Amino acid sequence: MRYIEPHAHMVSRTTDDYLAMVTAGCQAVCEPAFWAGFDRRSVDGFYDYFCQLTEHEPSRAAKFGLPHFAWLCINPKEAEDLKLAGEVIDIIPQFFDRPNVLGIGEIGLNKNSRNELAVFERHVDLAARHDQLILIHTPHLEDKLKGTKLIVDALKSDGRIQPGRVIIDHVEEHTIELVLDAGFWAGMTLYPESKCTAARAVDMVGLYGRERLWMNSACDWGVSVPLAVPRAALEMRQRGHAAETVDEMIYQNPIRFLGQSGKFKLPGSQ
Ligand SMILES: [Zn+2]
Repeated sequence: MRYIEPHAHMVSRTTDDYLAMVTAGCQAVCEPAFWAGFDRRSVDGFYDYFCQLTEHEPSRAAKFGLPHFAWLCINPKEAEDLKLAGEVIDIIPQFFDRPNVLGIGEIGLNKNSRNELAVFERHVDLAARHDQLILIHTPHLEDKLKGTKLIVDALKSDGRIQPGRVIIDHVEEHTIELVLDAGFWAGMTLYPESKCTAARAVDMVGLYGRERLWMNSACDWGVSVPLAVPRAALEMRQRGHAAETVDEMIYQNPIRFLGQSGKFKLPGSQ
C-alpha cells in the first residue's frame, strides 16, 4: 500500500508515529498550521511556528525518508484578536518561497463569528493575490452546516478563486454535497471520536464517487490516529473496493490536488 497523508499536525506527534506511517506506506505528509492548544500571545510566536513548519519539521520527517509539506495561516480559534491576526497575515508572504510551502491553511471558521469570517476573507484575499492553494477547516458539530455555507458563499463571491484549487476539509454526510456541487475538493477527516469514522468515509465514497475527494487523519495533540488513512484503506478493501480504487483515493487524488502548487513533488517524480 502507498498513501499520502494530506493533513497531519506532526509537530504534536512522536518519532514513533513517523516510523509507523512510513512503515504503513506513507509517501508524503502535509501539515497545515493549527491551534497549539493554547493561544499564542504575539506575532513572534507565529513566526517561530512557521519556522518550525518550514525548517525543523521537514528535517525531522527527512530522517524517515518522508517528504514534508506545510500550509500557513492563523487558525480560526485565534482569529478573534483582529490586530494579532492582521500582524500574522502580514508575515506569511515572506514564507511563500520556502520549498515546502503549499498554500494557505487551515483557515476557516470555528464558532462562525463575525471576526472569524473577516480573518477568513483576509486569508482568501492573500491566497488570491499570491496564487496559493487553499485548505479549509470547517466547524464542529452543530456549527458545521452553517459554517460550511458561510465559507462556500464567501469563496463563491470572490471571482478570483478557482474552486478546483480549494479543499474544504472535515466534511460529513450533511456538508459533502454542498462542497462538491460548488466545484471544490472535499476532505474527510478520520477521527476516532468526532468528525468521521472510516466506515462513514467509505460510505460517502460509495455515494459521491472519488473525483474530488481525499481522506486524512488530521492527527494532532488530541485523541487522533496517525494511521487512520491506511486503516480506512483496509476498510475499503474489506468492502470489496479494488486495489486500484483504493490507490486512487489515498494516493493519486492527493497528488492531483496538491500537485497544483508546483512545489508538491515526490522523490523520483518530475
Ligand atoms: Zn487540522
